[in-house]
Amino acid sequence: MPSQSRNSSTSSVRTARSSRSSKLASVEEKYGFEANFEPSLDKKYTCPVCLAGLREPVQTKCGHRFCRACIKKACGSQAVTKCPIDKIIFDLKTELFEDLAVKREVLSQKVLCVNKERGCSWTAELRYLEEHGDQCEFALVACQNGCGEEFIQQHAELHGKECPLRIISCSYCKENIVHRDLTPHFQVCPRHPVSCSLCGKTDLLREQLKGHLDCDEGDCPDVVVPCSFEEMGCNEQVKRDLLSAHVQDATQHHFQLMVSYTRGLKSQVQSHMDTMRETHEICNQLICEQADLARQITEQNKQIGHQAALLREVQQIGHSGVLYWKVELPSQNYTNPLLSPPFYTSQPGYKFRLCLELRGHVARSETHASLFVMMCRGEYDDQLFFPFGGVCHVTVFNQSHSRAVSSDQHLTTTIECQNLTRAETDNCQTQKRGRLRFMKTDTLIRAPYCLNRELFIRADMATFCASA
Ligand SMILES: [Zn+2]
Ligand SMILES: [Zn+2]
Ligand SMILES: [Zn+2]
Ligand SMILES: [Zn+2]
Ligand SMILES: [Zn+2]
Ligand SMILES: [Zn+2]
Ligand SMILES: [Zn+2]
Repeated sequence: MPSQSRNSSTSSVRTARSSRSSKLASVEEKYGFEANFEPSLDKKYTCPVCLAGLREPVQTKCGHRFCRACIKKACGSQAVTKCPIDKIIFDLKTELFEDLAVKREVLSQKVLCVNKERGCSWTAELRYLEEHGDQCEFALVACQNGCGEEFIQQHAELHGKECPLRIISCSYCKENIVHRDLTPHFQVCPRHPVSCSLCGKTDLLREQLKGHLDCDEGDCPDVVVPCSFEEMGCNEQVKRDLLSAHVQDATQHHFQLMVSYTRGLKSQVQSHMDTMRETHEICNQLICEQADLARQITEQNKQIGHQAALLREVQQIGHSGVLYWKVELPSQNYTNPLLSPPFYTSQPGYKFRLCLELRGHVARSETHASLFVMMCRGEYDDQLFFPFGGVCHVTVFNQSHSRAVSSDQHLTTTIECQNLTRAETDNCQTQKRGRLRFMKTDTLIRAPYCLNRELFIRADMATFCASA
């Protein structure tokens, strides 16, 4: 039979325990059954297109049977088509019928397992073939570890114990290792037993070997260690076993080494102390220098402050012999003297201030205000002649805005300033001239001279020829 010969030439290899995937594949539309029918399949159950057993058989109106998939493939997508056997035209939708009777008969045919040649003796109706195929112990499977080996399902367990790529646990360190890599692993496994190459001790694990051979902490009697007096200069190296014998034998030598070592230490300590003393002295010197510098900086800051004040004064002070003074009355106490900003008679010139005492000079008069012109210590005094002689015209402005104020409505007075000598301070009480009873306080602190608690006073200083 053609169907049988074809089948025996194809061998299906699946991965062990992969029956689920083959079941999914059977959902796709398939052509005829290719199976080992026993006895051979009657020709009436054979599809004339695929020459295999009819699968999902359908019948045309001309009475020919095909697998459903085969006739669909032969007719393509056309709705009206021809029978492949006798070319009779039929409608694919309305003139093609499912043949349930033949379907049942085909599925009832006896078949043998496809793995018969590998020893499977299974035989049953065709309808059970796919189900058996998934479970057949003689189906060919590939090793799931990927070693490339193929074997029948029955031998899968056996191969699992022999596969070179199987995973096993190292019996020493319990790590999971591919069996093929086990021998190389033993060369590095930390828990693998080793023996000491020096003393021959055998019950050691690889991870303990380093500790066993350690010069300080180890216990290998044959490891070579330096003498305990190495730091003091003994260069002897002996097996650990012989160390105590060496220490005993070389007592004299070790003692001499210790003496010179101690001497060396003593001189080192001395030299360190010398260095520390020097450092200490340098530190003290630096501290002194720093204090000096700080003093200098403070002094310079003071000078800078003084210069800045002078500069401000020079920028603000008038140098024309004229002063305009806005006097703000204090809120309560009228006994303190009020000092005007300074002004110069010229540049270079003499420096003056006005001084207004609302309750009289040192409160001598409670009713009248005193007014003075006061010589101050000036920047140009070195270039000037003293004593000074001049006259100062003082004006207290009438601030009435009701009508134009003519000059005779302001309050004026002239103060003789004769024989004023050089002032030693900026607020010199001795070098001043003025009026003890300048005017009545009550008049001065009210309108029209005082508005919004403010007075406006002008001073014009005329200098006589100073005596040479
Ligand atoms: Zn077919
Ligand atoms: Zn036909
Ligand atoms: Zn089988
Ligand atoms: Zn394998
Ligand atoms: Zn291991
Ligand atoms: Zn050892
Ligand atoms: Zn020694």
